[in-house]
Amino acid sequence: MIPRFCTCAVRATAACSTGSRSTRRNSGAGACPVRLDGTGESDVHNDCVSLPVDLDTALQPRPSSPVQEVQDERFERQGVRLLLKREDLIHATLEWDSAALGPVDLYPPGNKWRKLAPNLRAAAESGRRTLVTFGGAYSNHLRATAAAGRLLGFASVGVVRGDELAGRPLNPSLARCAADGMRLVFVDRAAYRRAAEPAHVAALLADAGLDPDSVYLLPEGGSNALAVTGCVDLGRELRGAAETVAVPCGTGGTLAGLAAGLDAGQRALGFPVLRGGFLDAATRDLQRAAFAAPTAAWTLDDRFHFGGFARTSAELESFAADFEQRHGLAVERLYVAKMLYGLTTLAAEGAFAPGTAVAAVITGVPEPTA
Ligand SMILES: *Cc1c(COP(=O)(O)O)cnc(C)c1O
Repeated sequence: MIPRFCTCAVRATAACSTGSRSTRRNSGAGACPVRLDGTGESDVHNDCVSLPVDLDTALQPRPSSPVQEVQDERFERQGVRLLLKREDLIHATLEWDSAALGPVDLYPPGNKWRKLAPNLRAAAESGRRTLVTFGGAYSNHLRATAAAGRLLGFASVGVVRGDELAGRPLNPSLARCAADGMRLVFVDRAAYRRAAEPAHVAALLADAGLDPDSVYLLPEGGSNALAVTGCVDLGRELRGAAETVAVPCGTGGTLAGLAAGLDAGQRALGFPVLRGGFLDAATRDLQRAAFAAPTAAWTLDDRFHFGGFARTSAELESFAADFEQRHGLAVERLYVAKMLYGLTTLAAEGAFAPGTAVAAVITGVPEPTA
């Protein structure tokens, strides 16, 4: 199929309709979403320009994210080189071919794109036109899904934890989701916890008026077997670059794929940002789902979650601000800051052999503040 990009300036519109002028220009299979209310094609908006693109081209990270060596005395003191794998720059470098593929800002950056890409392909190939997924009020995954939906012409629905949020103004992260056309469904915490169970998903979809046959479900955090396979290239791109590759972990999906893509002699080191010690089993389960068996070359360091998801401390905040100053990049606080803090602590502890290199995967960009 040929998806079309909506480059429309009206961010509140999910995607182009089949009636837009570019649709008439190309004769590809219709990729525009049907409306969630079931009335068929979405409204025509005439300032909408959509471009025909090849799905293969659209779904590859373009170009592969750069690896940058940085000078950091806390590592140099130990004889260790520090590299940054800039996943935050996927789709954001000068080589980007916007003439062919449309504006960069339509693409979600970071590891969420790696995880979504194979799922978007599967959704497109199965003809399911509505992405449905789950997340908290600050979920990077919800934002990425909304952006990807708008980009490729899928409708999207975000099931948001916390019905108390429903009556309030949207925070900047959820506002971004809505602007990318995501319909937000707020559910209470108990319902949210149950939502992953098949019987409850069916009920939820029915309540939301969604036809199960048109829905492509993505789990909270976006990690399923396909998502894990989407992260294998991240490991492959780091072959030969460093003995240790560090990554922050939520669900473990990125670590699971990354570790499988590394070479013999390299190891991945995951830093969980949630409490609970469940990640070892979760990562192994994801590897089993993706590759039939867990791979060996990864470990976790559970000491740097700072109390749990979205928890922070004055020390972590000043560490992150200092890292930004030293190295001139924006440090995402929910995940990336905790990994960099953990890595710097480990360097001071002498955890990395002199003469080796450590690559830190910068998995994403800071959340929007407005
Ligand atoms: C989601 C996310 C992660 C964690 O990825 P998992 O695959 O869930 O472990 C790490 N960093 C950033 C910036 C993220 O948004």
